[in-house]
Amino acid sequence: MSRAYNFCAGPATLPEPVLRQARDEMLDWRGTGMSVMEMSHRSDEFVEIAETAEQDLRELAGISDDYTVLFMQGGASSQFATIPLNLLGENGRADYVNTGIWSEKAIAEASRYGDIQVAASSEASGFTTVPLQETWNTRPDAAYLHYTPNETIGGLEYDFIPESGNVPLVADMSSTMLSRPLDVSRFGLIYAGAQKNIGPSGLVVVIIRKDLLGKARSETPTMMNYQVIAENGSMYNTPATYSWYLAGLVFKWLKEQGGVDAMAAVNRRKATKLYEFIDGNDFYANPIDPRFRSWMNVPFTLADDALNGTFLKGADERGLLNLKGHRSVGGMRASIYNAMPEAGVDALIDYMAGFAKEHG
Ligand SMILES: *Cc1c(COP(=O)(O)O)cnc(C)c1O
Repeated sequence: MSRAYNFCAGPATLPEPVLRQARDEMLDWRGTGMSVMEMSHRSDEFVEIAETAEQDLRELAGISDDYTVLFMQGGASSQFATIPLNLLGENGRADYVNTGIWSEKAIAEASRYGDIQVAASSEASGFTTVPLQETWNTRPDAAYLHYTPNETIGGLEYDFIPESGNVPLVADMSSTMLSRPLDVSRFGLIYAGAQKNIGPSGLVVVIIRKDLLGKARSETPTMMNYQVIAENGSMYNTPATYSWYLAGLVFKWLKEQGGVDAMAAVNRRKATKLYEFIDGNDFYANPIDPRFRSWMNVPFTLADDALNGTFLKGADERGLLNLKGHRSVGGMRASIYNAMPEAGVDALIDYMAGFAKEHG
């Protein structure tokens, strides 16, 4: 069996040791005679799996007891509505920063529920940069300030945490969670769809400061009410048990790698060498302001779009998969999350260099 290098933006590649362990435990989890998939979520065994996963995540991300960790369903997109329903409160105002397609989706959904203001936008630049915070027009009475630290489609990543004063900061960390150290105490709420850096799709991890619980509007669906989900240990209904288990295996793997500090060193190295190669070669280009280039998602174009098909075909033949850029952006995109080995990035650069030589 040979594993390809999968550069998909999400669902994304998972660490091979995690998949092997899941395979080994598939039919009989530790002598229980059943798969994790078949276990009652109320069983001692599953409760242990769930609690261990949360504990490991708390350790990895440095999450204090001031925060509740929720394992919810519906992906990051369902949080676009869940957040305003829970946090908008009486005055119904929130500010959002628009840096790309995921910000836009969050803004559009929240706008259905309240007075949503775009405090800053880099749309005029084609979302190639992050608006500097001095230019943000935020409201001190907003219920929260939302931003997207890593725009997965554009390949744009903040290199700072916004200052939000007393206004709770809310971040969609779907494609950057656990890729580098993070000061969780700066945030009111962090959410992350799992399929980039955490596990299988469908699961979404929500880290919420406890004082923000219990503020949901009365019409909030029960399944979207953070307070209810928190009180029930994320088991108000049947949780996504197998995804939760797999996320737990990923957390264990991350700890074995040395945690987020060690991951950050590798991620920086992987991204730097790919950007340096792109910048140093006339055949390839990346449009993003170098200061805000993503460590996780690296879009690039070829000198001639007519070669895109040939490039992708040759990449496929070498087991370098899913390099096609998002349909809204075109070109290529290499997603190089935690689970992408450095050898995968080396293989990609090697292929890109040969291709440029042949077609440049
Ligand atoms: C992938 C992604 C989403 C959407 O995640 P779903 O789980 O498909 O809803 C939202 N925000 C960002 C930043 C993403 O990368």
